[in-house]
Amino acid sequence: MCGVAGVFGVGKPLKALCDMMQALQYRGEQGAGVRLLRSDGSAFYERELGPLTELSRKIRFQPPADDNFVAGIGHLRYGTSGTRRLVANTGPLYGEMSWGSLSFAHNGDTPNYDLLKKDLFGKGYFFTSDTDSEFILQYIASIRASSSIDAIRRGLSQYKGTFALAMLVRDSDGVKLIAARDHSGNRPLALGRLDKGYIVASEDNAFEAVSGEFIREINAGELLVISKDGLQELQLIFHYPQRIGLQQCVFENIYFELPTSKKMFGLSIKAFREGLGRKAAKSCGFLVEAGDVVANVPDSSNPFADGFCKELGRPVERALVRRHSPKVRAFTQEDFEQREDAVRKKFSIDSEVVSGKRVWVLDDSIVRGITLRKIARLLRSLGATWIGFIVSCEPIIGPCGKGMDFSAEGLVARKYLTGPKQIDVDVDAVREYVEADALYYNTRENVVSVIRELGGNPENFCFGCFDNKEPIWGAW
Ligand code: AMP
Repeated sequence: MCGVAGVFGVGKPLKALCDMMQALQYRGEQGAGVRLLRSDGSAFYERELGPLTELSRKIRFQPPADDNFVAGIGHLRYGTSGTRRLVANTGPLYGEMSWGSLSFAHNGDTPNYDLLKKDLFGKGYFFTSDTDSEFILQYIASIRASSSIDAIRRGLSQYKGTFALAMLVRDSDGVKLIAARDHSGNRPLALGRLDKGYIVASEDNAFEAVSGEFIREINAGELLVISKDGLQELQLIFHYPQRIGLQQCVFENIYFELPTSKKMFGLSIKAFREGLGRKAAKSCGFLVEAGDVVANVPDSSNPFADGFCKELGRPVERALVRRHSPKVRAFTQEDFEQREDAVRKKFSIDSEVVSGKRVWVLDDSIVRGITLRKIARLLRSLGATWIGFIVSCEPIIGPCGKGMDFSAEGLVARKYLTGPKQIDVDVDAVREYVEADALYYNTRENVVSVIRELGGNPENFCFGCFDNKEPIWGAW
């Protein structure tokens, strides 16, 4: 999972870019980088490990002479392939081509990493990083084309992975900002306006951070070229093994995106999550007793809890409050102990609300189960007499090869698969693992019916991690 952003023709472009990246920080904290170009082709290029603050420190130390760039792109890395502590794996990646220069920030992944690398080694390529994003650079570089756009379109058609890209090009025509999403539409990308120019970002809430205006989501299979001539809308060449349709990642809607974003895959995030809450309340709300406390894990599950409690006609108790801690997402910590420690530091729990009470805690999802188990322990230590968890989606049982960091070994529900097909989950075993007295997962029917109610088509979403299936590339 990563965050990408781009600017063209805006005032103070470096500042605007960094402000948008700050807004998207939670999409990746392992590394941050920017590359901007002036009209004469000269560049400002910096990358640093860690969150954006590390990059900002570096930039403050050696700032550019001015902030009058034509365009720029930025990358926030949360690596799902490749070494974490390698600056070379942080975008934007950069290369000189026969037709000019190319740099790009990539959000996406390929489950075929080893296969593709072997193939490229066989063809005489070498790599300066171990991120799958470098394949994109290599494929584009390998195309003999007279124009940058032709090379990019044909190069991208060879990349067997998912991508949402912000690209910065310098060719004989000048500087261009290019944005592209692959045909599966698995990763999000939005287009906006700022001043007289354009901005792009993984999530449209980044536009609001610079007082920009959301125009629309960039379509799956679309390539937008933004240059001195304005906005050009092109189509990418199809590159999948078979017709796969749209495979938009439903987990982006369930958890990742900030609820203030207007649209993700055509759905309002707030309405979607509230809808999941309403449906969950219809399915299991009868279990909640009059004197129970209903709380939630902030912030991602706030709308889910709001929907749940609205349906039951009772308030959400904000028993868990997020501390003002610099680390944004606990799961991006590297090992079990660090994650548990991050959960402890992240939440402050109001003992007066929970002491002596039965407490329900709502959360968006269970991945490794570390967060909810730690919360169960904390609640008990503060006097809660009984703990129930309600989760906004189904059990996550399969790894993701397209951008979410779900490894097969880490998924708690996968440890408790049952039934002849080994796809059903022994929910009671998961309940025991997270040390709760009750555990309810939302159902596929509920998720699908909310998508329909909001005018979406559930067929256009990837549920691979809930089905333990890879819908694009098959099993691996
Ligand atoms: P966990 O403690 O692993 O069960 O995760 C707790 C919270 O972090 C939930 O809100 C998850 O949705 C989120 N989370 C954990 N791992 C990931 C991941 N790899 N990608 C996105 N979100 C995650």
